[in-house]
Amino acid sequence: MTTASTEPTVLIVGAGPAGLFAACELVRHGVRPRLVEQRSAPHREARGTALQPAVLEMLARAGLVEPFLEAGVHIKHIQLLGPGLREIASEHFAGTGSPYEFQCSLPQWRTEAILRTHLADQGLDVEFGTEVASVEDSADGLRVTLTRGDKSEVVPAAYVLGAGGGHSVTRHSMHEHLAGETYDGRYYVADARIGLACPSECARLIVGPTAFVLLSPLPDDRWLIFVNRDESDVGDRAPTEAELASLLDARTDAVVALHDLRWVSPFKMHKRLATRLADGRRFLLGDAAHLSSPLGGEGLNAALMDAADIAWKLGLVLRGAATPPLLDSYAVERGLADQHVLKVSDEVHAMVTGLVATCRGGGFPEVPVGTPQQNVMSSRRRLMLDVSYAGSVLVGPQAGDRFAAGHRLDGVGHHLIVSAKTAGLDRLRARWHGMLSIVDPAKEGFAGAVPDRAAILVRPDGFIGFREVIREGLAIDALDAHLSSYLVPAGGTSS
Ligand SMILES: Cc1cc2nc3c(=O)[nH]c(=O)nc-3n(C[C@H](O)[C@H](O)[C@H](O)COP(=O)(O)OP(=O)(O)OC[C@H]3O[C@@H](n4cnc5c(N)ncnc54)[C@H](O)[C@@H]3O)c2cc1C
Repeated sequence: MTTASTEPTVLIVGAGPAGLFAACELVRHGVRPRLVEQRSAPHREARGTALQPAVLEMLARAGLVEPFLEAGVHIKHIQLLGPGLREIASEHFAGTGSPYEFQCSLPQWRTEAILRTHLADQGLDVEFGTEVASVEDSADGLRVTLTRGDKSEVVPAAYVLGAGGGHSVTRHSMHEHLAGETYDGRYYVADARIGLACPSECARLIVGPTAFVLLSPLPDDRWLIFVNRDESDVGDRAPTEAELASLLDARTDAVVALHDLRWVSPFKMHKRLATRLADGRRFLLGDAAHLSSPLGGEGLNAALMDAADIAWKLGLVLRGAATPPLLDSYAVERGLADQHVLKVSDEVHAMVTGLVATCRGGGFPEVPVGTPQQNVMSSRRRLMLDVSYAGSVLVGPQAGDRFAAGHRLDGVGHHLIVSAKTAGLDRLRARWHGMLSIVDPAKEGFAGAVPDRAAILVRPDGFIGFREVIREGLAIDALDAHLSSYLVPAGGTSS
C-alpha cells in the first residue's frame, strides 16, 4: 500500500450520470476533480432515458445541450391507452413555459458518452478500473482508499462526492441508509425495436387487467420498454427475446412485435431517500441519495440536478469566494427537491397501478379531465419545471423558484436583473466585482420576465435567490446583506 503526499481536493466516486455531470460542472466552475469508476469500461445500457426540460435548461447553461438535442428523440406528448389500445388520455407538453417543451430521450450510455467526451475535451479523463474501497475521517480531512487490480492507495481528499449509485460506499461511510420503501411487483426494462405503429415523438403507456407497458421512443427507431412480470416468475434470469415478445403481446392484448433486443434487465422500483445527504465533507448525489419510481422519469434528472447544485457551491468555496457553510445548503436544497421528486414520481406510480386495478375489476379506466390551466400545472410538475428551493436558508422571501429566462444568462456568477436607473448599483458592482453581473431588463430583453421596479437575483444555477421591489435603495441594501450571508466580497471579508 502506498500513501500519496499531494492529491486533488475533490474526489468523485463513480462515473455514472451524477459523477460525470458533477465533474463537468466543477471544471466549468474552475475546480479539477479526480473522477474514479470501478467498471473497467463504459456500459451500453439504456436505463434512464428521458431528460426533462428543466434539465435541458441546466445543460444549456453548462454549454452542453446541443449534443443532447441532436442525439435524442424529442418526446412532445404522452398517450395513455387502455384495453384494446383505446385512448384514456393524452398529455401534450406545449405551453409549459420552457424553451424545451419536450423530453429529450436517449439511452443512458449515450448520455454518459456525451458527458465523458465533454470532460475529455477539457482534459479530464475518467479513471476506469479504480474502486473506492473506503472513505474514512481523519483529523485534516478524508482518507480514501482506492484499489486498482491488486494495488491499493490511500489518498487524502478535502471533499468526496458520493455518486456511486444505490450501493454507495460514501453513504455507508457516513452510516446512512436509504429510508423508504420498495414498490410491490417486479419489472423488466428493455431496449429493443417494435413492430407496433406509434405516433412520432410520443411515448405510450398501456394499461390492462394484468399489467402496464411503457413504450418510450429512443433514437434509431428503438424503444425503451417497461413491463411488469408475474410474481411467479421471480428468478433474476433475463428473459429471452421470444419470452419478452410474448409477454408484451399478452400484457397489451396487441401485436407489439418486439424484436432486435439489445438489452434487458430485471429490476425493482423504490421510493427512498438518504436520511442525511451530506456531512460537510461528503455529499451524496444521484442514486446514492435517492431512488424514485422510473414511471416518474425523474431519477436520472434529479441526479444531474444534484450535481449542478453541489458544483457551483464547491466552486465558490474552493475559490475562497464563499464561506464553507454555503455547502450546508446542499443537503437542505436538494433534500427539498428530492422529496418533491419522490412525491411526484409516487403520484404517477399510484395513478398507473390504480388504472391497472380498475381494468382488473372489469372497468375501463378513466382519468379526471382538468381545466387547461390545471393540465399545464400538472405537466410542469412532471417535467420538473416546478422544482423550487423556496424555504431554503439560502433564498430570500418569495424566492427559490427557477428563473424562467435563466438559460439566457451566461457565465458562472450571480446575475442581478434590475433597472440600470436604480440607486446604489455602483456600490454593489464594486463590492461584488467578478461575482455579480448587473443586467438591465430593458436593454437585455428580459423586460417581460421581470416585474416593474423589481430586483431579481439569479444564482449560478438559474434559481432565484432574492426578489424584492425597489424602494429608496432598501432592496439594494437587503440584497447586499443577502449576498454577504454566503459570499466573500471582492478583496474583503464577509460581513
Ligand atoms: C436496470 C436499471 C434500469 C433502470 N431504468 C431506468 C429507467 O427506465 N428510467 C429512469 O429514470 N431510471 C432508470 N434507472 C435508474 C437510473 O439508471 C439512475 O437513476 C441513474 O443511473 C443514476 O445515476 P447515478 O450516477 O447516480 O448512478 P449510476 O448510474 O448507478 O452510476 C454509479 C457509478 O458509480 C460506480 N461505482 C459504484 N461504486 C463505486 C466505487 N466504490 N468506486 C468507484 N466507482 C463506483 C458504478 O460502477 C457506476 O458506474 C435504471 C437503473 C437500473 C439499474
